[in-house]
Amino acid sequence: MHRTACVALRVTPGQRRPRFGLLRSAGDVWPCVLEANAWRRRRHDAPLVAYQQLCRELAASGPGTFAELDTTGARSVLRRFSDAWFAAAKRRSAGDLSARFPRRRRGLVSVRWYHGTFTVDGCRVRIPTARGTSPLWVRLAREVPYPAEQVRSVTLLCEGGRLFLAVTAEVPVTVYPPGEEPDPARVAGVDLGIIHPYAVAGPDGEGLLVSGRAIRAEHRMHLADTKSRRRAVAHRAPKPGQKGSRRWRQYRRRTRLVEGRHRRRVRQAQHEAARTVVSWAVRQRVGVLHVGDPRGVLAIPAGRHNLRLRQWQIGRLLQVLTDKATLAGITVRLVDERGTSSTCPACRGRVPKPRGRTLSCPHCAFSGHRDLVAAASIATRVPGGGSTTPAAVVLPQVVTHRRAGRHLPGAGRSRRDPRRPPLAARGSVGPRWPTPPIGGESLAQQARIRDTYRTPGERQWKPH
Ligand SMILES: [Zn+2]
Repeated sequence: MHRTACVALRVTPGQRRPRFGLLRSAGDVWPCVLEANAWRRRRHDAPLVAYQQLCRELAASGPGTFAELDTTGARSVLRRFSDAWFAAAKRRSAGDLSARFPRRRRGLVSVRWYHGTFTVDGCRVRIPTARGTSPLWVRLAREVPYPAEQVRSVTLLCEGGRLFLAVTAEVPVTVYPPGEEPDPARVAGVDLGIIHPYAVAGPDGEGLLVSGRAIRAEHRMHLADTKSRRRAVAHRAPKPGQKGSRRWRQYRRRTRLVEGRHRRRVRQAQHEAARTVVSWAVRQRVGVLHVGDPRGVLAIPAGRHNLRLRQWQIGRLLQVLTDKATLAGITVRLVDERGTSSTCPACRGRVPKPRGRTLSCPHCAFSGHRDLVAAASIATRVPGGGSTTPAAVVLPQVVTHRRAGRHLPGAGRSRRDPRRPPLAARGSVGPRWPTPPIGGESLAQQARIRDTYRTPGERQWKPH
C-alpha cells in the first residue's frame, strides 16, 4: 500500500528562492508544452501528448532549458500533463463535453522525483537538480515517518505560501501474531456524522463514539474570524481592475496562511478520529467494517445546510478510514445507510428524527444513542443492499468515548465545545499547540478528572 505524508520544509528566507525556483521552472514546463502544441495545431499537426513523445522533445531541447530543474523533475510535469490530457480525452469520448483539455498556465507546479533519484537522510532530503548545478539539500520540519528504504517518491509542492515535501512510501500491511489478527467473522458498523465523525458498534455490544465537536468548533471559529477579517478590510478592497496596494497584498497573504492552517488543523483531527476507530477495531479484533455511505445526502438541495454539509467532507472521512483500515488488515465495505437512523432497532417502527442525540421510539419503550443505534443497524446490512432477512441488531452496551482534535485551539480538558480561549486577542485563534506525534492519536493533554475531595477541616492550601 502506498501512503503519503506531507512534511513542511524548514527554510531560511535565502533558501526559499532556489526552492520556489524549482516550482517556477516546473511551471514553465507546462506552458512550454501548451505553446508547442499551439504551434503544431496551426501547422495542422497532431498534438504532442504521449509521455514518451514529450520526453523525447525534452531531451532534444537539451539540458538547462528549465533552469535548475533536472530531467526527472521535468518529466514528472510532462507525465502529469499527459495524464490530464488523456483523462480529458477519455471523458470527452464518453460524451462529457464539459471536460476540457489542459490549457491554463500555472505559475507554480509541484515537482515529483522517483525512487533512486533522491536521498533521504533523517530530516534532510537530497533533491537532484540540473547537470552542472550542485544538488539541493532540503531540511524538513520533522523526520520522514517511513523507513528510508520504503520511500518511493517525493513531491515538492507549495500550499498557501508554504513549502511542503509530500513523501510517498510503500508500506506493508500490518502482520499480527497468531490469535491477534482481525477476524473476518467479526463485523462492526460505522455511522458517519457531523457531531460524531465516527460512531462504531462492535460485535459484542462494544461501541465507540468519536466526538467531532472540536472540529465543528474550529469550522465555526474560522468562519467567524474570516467574516470579521473581511469586514475590517472591506473599505480598502481594490475595485475591479484597480491595482491593489502592498497592504492589500499582505492581507491576501495572511488570508492564505490562515486558510492553510485551518485546513491542516481539520485534516489532522480527521486523521486522529480515523486512527482512533482503527486502533479500537484492532483491539476488538474486528475484521470487517461496514460503513454506511451517506453520500446521497449531498445530492439533496438543503438550502442553508450546504456549508455545514460541505464542511463535513464525507469523502475524506471515508477515504482516511479506508486507508488506515486497509493498512491494518481490516476490510471496509460500503453499505446503504438509508433509514438506519430513523428505524427503531427493537420494533422496526419508524421513529421521527430526534432533536438531540437520544433516539426514543414512540411505539415501544426503546431509547438509545442515535448514532450508535444507526451504527448497530449498519453492521447488519450487507453490501449491495440485498438484506432481506434482517439479522438481529446488537446494540452497544459498553461505549468508549473519544474526542478528535484535542490539539485544536480552545479544546481544553473539560470543554466539550471549544470556544475562543479567553486570553486570545480578537481575531486570533489562540495559543499554538504542539503538533501531535506522527503515529496517530493526539498526545495533547489528557482529560484529568479532579476527584480530590477534601475531608472536613482539611486545608485547601499548604503552608510554606
Ligand atoms: Zn420501537
